Amino acid sequence: MNPFERNPEKEKIKAGVKLMWPEGPSRRWSSIRCGEARLPYENGGFVGQYVCQGCQEPTVGVYRVISRGQVAILWLCAECAKMELAKFKPNKKSA
Ligand SMILES: [Zn+2]
Repeated sequence: MNPFERNPEKEKIKAGVKLMWPEGPSRRWSSIRCGEARLPYENGGFVGQYVCQGCQEPTVGVYRVISRGQVAILWLCAECAKMELAKFKPNKKSA
């Protein structure tokens, strides 16, 4: 057995992304506890970091943004929230 090999059973576990509730934020989620999802989730499984619904990247915190383009509520990281809000500045210059 190769001593440098990592535990293949643990390596196989990859957290997915789960919507916490309709129109709610997304978080890493796994049915089995793993590195990416460590916190027990009340509805089953384990959750980890929030995931930005814009860039799909895990993020420390998410901001609730009402996207006027899609008329939807999005939970975005700071960068995506800034971009989303900038899209709809009222001072749009059009000739
Ligand atoms: Zn983002």
